[in-house]
Amino acid sequence: MTDLILVLNAGSSSIKFALHPAAGSGRKPALTGEIGGIGTAPQFKARNAGGESLDTEVLAGADATADHAALVARLLDWLLAGEWGGRISAAGHRVVHGGRQFDGPVLIDAKVMQALEQLVPLAPLHQPHSLAAIRAIAERLPELPQVACFDTAFHRTQPRLAQLFALPRHLSDEGIIRYGFHGLSYHYIAGVLPDHLGKRADGRIIVAHLGNGASMCAMKERRSIATSMGFTALDGLMMGRRSGSIDPGVLIHLQENKGLDVAAVGRLLYSESGLYGVSGISNDMRDLEASADPHAREAIDLFCYRAALELSSLAAALEGLDAIVFTAGIGEHSEMVRRLVCARLSWLGVALDQTANEAHANRISTTDSAVDVLVIPTDEEAVIAEAARHLI
Ligand code: ADP
Repeated sequence: MTDLILVLNAGSSSIKFALHPAAGSGRKPALTGEIGGIGTAPQFKARNAGGESLDTEVLAGADATADHAALVARLLDWLLAGEWGGRISAAGHRVVHGGRQFDGPVLIDAKVMQALEQLVPLAPLHQPHSLAAIRAIAERLPELPQVACFDTAFHRTQPRLAQLFALPRHLSDEGIIRYGFHGLSYHYIAGVLPDHLGKRADGRIIVAHLGNGASMCAMKERRSIATSMGFTALDGLMMGRRSGSIDPGVLIHLQENKGLDVAAVGRLLYSESGLYGVSGISNDMRDLEASADPHAREAIDLFCYRAALELSSLAAALEGLDAIVFTAGIGEHSEMVRRLVCARLSWLGVALDQTANEAHANRISTTDSAVDVLVIPTDEEAVIAEAARHLI
């Protein structure tokens, strides 16, 4: 009987889960699934290793009042009662914020939990859900080793200048710095880059993680040297519902002259802006690409314009560019976004192979392009499973 690692990725309204074999990285998970609609109408879906959908009553009776802890407890009961070809021997969690302290995955104990609690104010929309999941598991299985993997950790290698805001020094000293996020995705891509680029993998690479949340990471020797997100996951690129970088003076204006309070500004920036706000139609790139409405097209154009600007700024941090990697929902699937972004980068030596791009090939640059352009699917859960294997 093999050992299995339970991988949990608790977001604000969803919990993704998987059971990965504890031995032999690269093997397929025995189970993957998601609880969605948390806080409104929770739904459950899961598939086994063969891709079959598993019909279950795991959430029977759960409604809008069921919180992350209650849903994780139900999930755990279901998992422990099932036959998955192995026994759960560890749990690995995606935790958004590791602050300045955690520069890699860590085995969770009471001291670590205390440190993670203290980081809640830095990620109030995300951190509490991961901590609730960790606690729910510890309550049911106190002996089970649990590992935390941080979205911020990959960026801790950045030079000090890349992390500083131009704010008074005492604010930087107390932790108001650029942390960066999507680190598990960047870690995964950094790990597989040599398979695609050989020795060039250690050169100057920009990874564009374009999903609902979107950011970019500049890597040298496969380590992060700069990234587009900052103190929060709001900075940088335009996203599905988030504004990305914005003149901070706008925020002062909205509060002084438009009567918005802090909560309203938060809602505006986190959930009413981005593709959704500019198009007035949807936060989903597929809907916008399918729409004939000029506002949809303007939202796509702004998304791509801003992405090209951000990428160019990161190329300056790298002092040149050898390769671009597109990943995550939009990066992996949108031929149009990749085309529009790359069209603005010919001055950097980027030449796109249109046919390869339309075919979503692994390499979508022409053979004589000075910059390699790749499409690589990311796998954040594989990184969590690997970290748990390593630490336990
Ligand atoms: P999350 O940040 O929630 O993990 P994903 O990485 O799954 O997001 O990306 C979700 C986004 O990917 C969706 O908003 C959708 O716009 C986009 N997407 C997925 N498939 C396609 C596609 N075939 N064409 C264009 N966009 C797509």
